[in-house]
Amino acid sequence: MAESTPVKIDIKDGRYLHIQWSDGNDSMLLLANLRKSCPCAGCLAEKLNKSASYIPLLSSVQSQLKNIKTVGTYAVQLIWQDGHDTGIYTYEKLREGKY
Ligand SMILES: [Zn+2]
Repeated sequence: MAESTPVKIDIKDGRYLHIQWSDGNDSMLLLANLRKSCPCAGCLAEKLNKSASYIPLLSSVQSQLKNIKTVGTYAVQLIWQDGHDTGIYTYEKLREGKY
């Protein structure tokens, strides 16, 4: 099965990451959810240190994107307004809505 890649990525309503895929499908992902499930080592360690009932409250700068960069042919790096930029989000998981 051919991997589909984003042909267009933009921000919708200031709250959603909208991805148009090469096979014609679309994904709408809530920015706040993407930030909360940031896959970088620092955020994962922080989550492990909290109890299961911990719900992070994000400030507006933490849930707004400053920039998006592609990483190779398989992922995007999301750069948040607060400067956090170590999260690499794979197309595969973005496509499956796993963030
Ligand atoms: Zn992170």
